[in-house]
Amino acid sequence: MAEPGFYPEGARVSVLTTEPVGKPLDYLAPEGGCFPGAFVEVPLGPRRVVGVVWGPGDGRFAAEKLRAVVRVLDVPPMRAELQQFLIRMADYTMTSRPGVLRLATRTPGLFEPPGARKIYRLGAGTPARMTDAREKVLGVLGDHGGAGFYLTELAQLAGVTPQVVKGLVAQGAVVETEAPRDLPYPRLDPQLPGKALSGDQAAAAAALRAGLGQFGVTLLKGVTGSGKTEVYLEAVAECLAKGQQALVLLPEIALTSEFLARVEARFGARPGEWHSGATQAERRRLWRMVAEGGAQMVVGARSALFLPYRDLGLIVVDEEHDSSYKQEEGALYNARDMAVLRASLAGAQVVLASATPSLESWANAEAGKYRRLDLQSRFGTADLPEMRAIDMREERIESVHWISPSLVGAVQATLSRGEQAMLFLNRRGYAPVTICRACGHQIGCDHCDARMVEHRFLKRLVCHQCGETKPIPTACPSCGVEGKLAPVGPGVERLAEEVAERFPKARTAVLSSDLFGSARALKEAVESIAAGGADIIIGTQIVAKGHNFPLLTLVGVIDADLGLQGSDLRAAERTFQLMRQVAGRAGRADKPGLALLQTCQPEHPVIRAILGGDEEAFWRAEAAGRRAVGVPPYGRMAGIILSGPEVAPLFELGNQLARNAAPLTRIGAQLFGPAPAPIARVRGRHRVRLLIKAEKSAPLQGAIRAWLRGVKFPNAVKLAIDIDPQSFL
Ligand code: ADP
Ligand code: ZN
Repeated sequence: MAEPGFYPEGARVSVLTTEPVGKPLDYLAPEGGCFPGAFVEVPLGPRRVVGVVWGPGDGRFAAEKLRAVVRVLDVPPMRAELQQFLIRMADYTMTSRPGVLRLATRTPGLFEPPGARKIYRLGAGTPARMTDAREKVLGVLGDHGGAGFYLTELAQLAGVTPQVVKGLVAQGAVVETEAPRDLPYPRLDPQLPGKALSGDQAAAAAALRAGLGQFGVTLLKGVTGSGKTEVYLEAVAECLAKGQQALVLLPEIALTSEFLARVEARFGARPGEWHSGATQAERRRLWRMVAEGGAQMVVGARSALFLPYRDLGLIVVDEEHDSSYKQEEGALYNARDMAVLRASLAGAQVVLASATPSLESWANAEAGKYRRLDLQSRFGTADLPEMRAIDMREERIESVHWISPSLVGAVQATLSRGEQAMLFLNRRGYAPVTICRACGHQIGCDHCDARMVEHRFLKRLVCHQCGETKPIPTACPSCGVEGKLAPVGPGVERLAEEVAERFPKARTAVLSSDLFGSARALKEAVESIAAGGADIIIGTQIVAKGHNFPLLTLVGVIDADLGLQGSDLRAAERTFQLMRQVAGRAGRADKPGLALLQTCQPEHPVIRAILGGDEEAFWRAEAAGRRAVGVPPYGRMAGIILSGPEVAPLFELGNQLARNAAPLTRIGAQLFGPAPAPIARVRGRHRVRLLIKAEKSAPLQGAIRAWLRGVKFPNAVKLAIDIDPQSFL
């Protein structure tokens, strides 16, 4: 992997492709030669595929059989730093190398020859006749401030046919131009002044600025509204001023637009945007511009970590505790941890920002591996919301109702002051269970070991595992009796019914990820609520994630005990984080907030810790508990998931693996299972789990590799290895 190097024509090179062939294959360098890291097209069997020149050939393949690289593609070669990152990540997460290369090249159209393409942008004209469809197109163009789109993308974004766009072109309201592809991004100006920072904000910003230019990790802790974003934007400014690139990872697309507007206000232009909702053209442009230096800053989802930065100086992981940083399908990795790995190779700084850090990061700060900076109070006000429990054992509550009289009273008082109230219930849909009152049958998914959830809004039952839906039957599918199916338990949609009954005059809004077709629709709903468009907000955990509602002063948690059920090792931590995040929505600026938690176990240590507000005490207790049993972050774990159409071969294989676990026991690891996974069937595939537990310093991946080497996996059986699992389902 010699970066200053060159392979002359005919030299043996090894090329890694994204094809599942395992290891890099040898080829001959093409006419004109190639550099290490070059993106190339190579023949593979009868096909041509794209790959990366990974290093010198290993010489094992017979010279006369070697084929030549077809051509070198017109994109900057992969830098040694990114290659190293992919290799280290593949080794750590036990993902194949083609699998990690796929993450770094998953940009449609990336390797098409450059050229000019027609793009469509806002024109000066106004259409003679305005229609809904036309308005949608102009709305999309307006939202993207001057940016151009390809025809199909624009039509798709607006939800109209391409003819509508063409119609607008004829009227001069949209202009069609030939544009060279992939223009550099407008320049961000780091010299523009930021907000005047308060004492601890200024100190934190200075510390972050001083760290730039070398590897280091900082945990930036502060309650919602304490100014973490303002502070890390100062570090971004310094990074840009040094001519380096900055990456800000956000856990949710819906947060991006609010953040982009903030960056624009701070630096005078928008950064590159990287997530599944960004257009194909934008992603392609960003990939290239990041590599060529035409993009100073990227805001994006976890996959933005795999972009080919030319000179990465800073990675911010905002809401670092968020479980969505863990990719749970395909390559299983935690973007927070991989951000630290990449920064260590790039010599960059990492800022992990959170009001409620993960225990992992908290422990790393305790151990002195990460620096910790605390912002003490909310900007402008000193007060965190007051938090109180409502003891549900003492409330008189009618059947099929979930809002206690105490909470009803608090909501009324809030509304009468002209302020907003939020009711939080972490359950999508209308009712989690549909039961037959005649035979007791619960309607389940045909393909998964999961109950179907009624979504009244969609008028369907939905499986939250596989997404399968079916109409709500009138007769029980088991006993055939008509009219006896009944919903059991509340989801947010059902809670909304109760709210309508109790507060008939209030305007309510339900925020649940499944109720919005797009990030844009969700964003619009959030903006309208923030502007006072609703009195009562009913929401799932989507509301916990950083949206600002300035009029909100009361948060009522319908079931604070929900997350404490189950045996997940992070149940306490997650409940603590979620409750504190949700409560943190209440009260801003000059209005004090109140958070009320409905619970049947107010004496539970986690509930007490949430109410008591002594966060350090909570983490210390949680850390001690985990240390005592040797689980993360004080021990290591790996999940092994076997899946297939038949259950018997899975257990057979699982048992065989358990019997031959010597490589694991040799490093002192323990193996549990095989056992049916808690969700034992998903999409028609049965699932069996094994769990490995080892000491923190144990060479876990090597042992797993040795253990699985030579094991014959039946064709239909799929193996997934989950290092540092977050989910045990
Ligand atoms: P956090 O990221 O911790 O939730 P933010 O950085 O979003 O906090 O700050 C919360 C609000 O307070 C934002 O509207 C922000 O602009 C404002 N704010 C924070 N610090 C300052 C400051 N020093 N001067 C002016 N406004 C500030
Ligand atoms: Zn299903």
